[in-house]
Amino acid sequence: PLDELIDPTLLKTDGLVGGKWVKGKTRFDVIDPATGRKLADVADLGQRETKAAIDAANAAWPAWRALTAKQRHGLMMAWYKLMMEAQDDLARLMTAEQGKPLAEAKGEVAYGASFIEWFAEEAKRANGETLPTFDNNKRILVTRQPIGVCAAITPWNFPLAMITRKVAPALAAGCTVVIKPAELTPLTALAAAELAVRAGIPAGVINVITGTDAPAIGKVLCDSDVVRHLSFTGSTEVGRILMAQCAPTIKKLALELGGNAPFLVFDDADLDSAVEGAVASKYRNAGQTCVCTNRFYVQDKVYDAFVKKFAAKVKTLKVGNGFEPGVVQGPLIEPSAVTKVEKHVKDAVKKGGKVITGGKKLKGQFYEPTVIAGAQADMLVAREETFGPLAPVFRFKTEQEGIDAANATEFGLASYFYSRDVGRIFRVSEGLEYGMVGINAGIISTEHVPFGGVKQSGLGREGSSHGMDEYLEIKYLCLGDI
Ligand code: ADP
Repeated sequence: PLDELIDPTLLKTDGLVGGKWVKGKTRFDVIDPATGRKLADVADLGQRETKAAIDAANAAWPAWRALTAKQRHGLMMAWYKLMMEAQDDLARLMTAEQGKPLAEAKGEVAYGASFIEWFAEEAKRANGETLPTFDNNKRILVTRQPIGVCAAITPWNFPLAMITRKVAPALAAGCTVVIKPAELTPLTALAAAELAVRAGIPAGVINVITGTDAPAIGKVLCDSDVVRHLSFTGSTEVGRILMAQCAPTIKKLALELGGNAPFLVFDDADLDSAVEGAVASKYRNAGQTCVCTNRFYVQDKVYDAFVKKFAAKVKTLKVGNGFEPGVVQGPLIEPSAVTKVEKHVKDAVKKGGKVITGGKKLKGQFYEPTVIAGAQADMLVAREETFGPLAPVFRFKTEQEGIDAANATEFGLASYFYSRDVGRIFRVSEGLEYGMVGINAGIISTEHVPFGGVKQSGLGREGSSHGMDEYLEIKYLCLGDI
């Protein structure tokens, strides 16, 4: 699929350190999850190159922060424009290495690029404050300064957007970065870095360490006292490791971790709209996003009607290679991802769940979009994120029972509910222990909203004006002898 790139020079396979492409001693294969075929081999970098990247980012920092906000804005807008011009090629790279359908990949390129545009604009608004004084001989100023060298460790499910969501606010604030993209999807990341180089973003401002030994690379990033901020998107398990590893250097942390999102349908909901939202929130990226619904809770009175309509819609979803027209669900990322879905389905069926549609593995790494009715709280799907195309539907009676069931997890990222009752809309949104609530909406992500979780889903917010705060330190100036 990569033979058809409009600009073949966007296929980069080496890491980027201090403006130089670095080959490394060994290489690793990048595989197309739809076919199992090798797409490219990429530099397998390690601790030595990671240290060099931190040094390069540190060396580039003074000049980058010294640019005016408007100058940084200009360079970032050039990067944004190049990214949108290369939308088709970036989408091809993404579908090839990640599997999501081409139309969805194009959407991610636009979404990913939008963070660069948004934060380029925000760069000009990193305002300070003047406060009332406590002494007529003194004046009080508050400024905001870039925190320093930042590290970004990103997952494979959004190979571009999870990078730009971290890198764009860092750059806008005047910070430099070292990125460690997921080893399964380095090609999109490297193409984005190449576009940054072409946009004129100076050497060392963006560095990319590709490699398979994530723990070793992560250790160097965490241990470094030059790196002042670590932003990670990935599993809660790895988030815990990174948080512990950042304790000795008291690093500022932003963590976007696991989800286990609930989706409640109340008996006053518009069922057709709920079904549409349910399909969008569940099967996007084959269920492999941290905001994908993991558990559906439907109120007693509308349970049967919802399951019927939902399953009918799910049956129509076309599964296949993301490059095929009309496909809305691609392969899962790895064989182990398929095994996890199989395990959850088997466990649910054993505990009394009824497969309404799907329920089977297809060839390769494909799995049928699946709906299981009669889901119970003791099933694995109730506790663990499936990260695949499985929708278990639980039944609840009262509003409070629904809220309690939705909150019965250590996670708190996205949640969704459908209701037309204005009082209920307030009660339920206030009752849900989640960082994000979609009300009569199954898709909620965009660049200018604060994305993030509570409880063990993470720390901090990405996107929106709040997304810049992570990368700026507040400094209080007390000026005396006036
Ligand atoms: P996922 O379930 O999305 O694969 P992971 O948390 O395993 O989530 O991976 C997300 C990112 O974290 C990837 O870039 C991966 O290489 C990296 N990673 C995994 N383990 C570690 C680790 N111990 N230290 C640093 N990075 C890690």
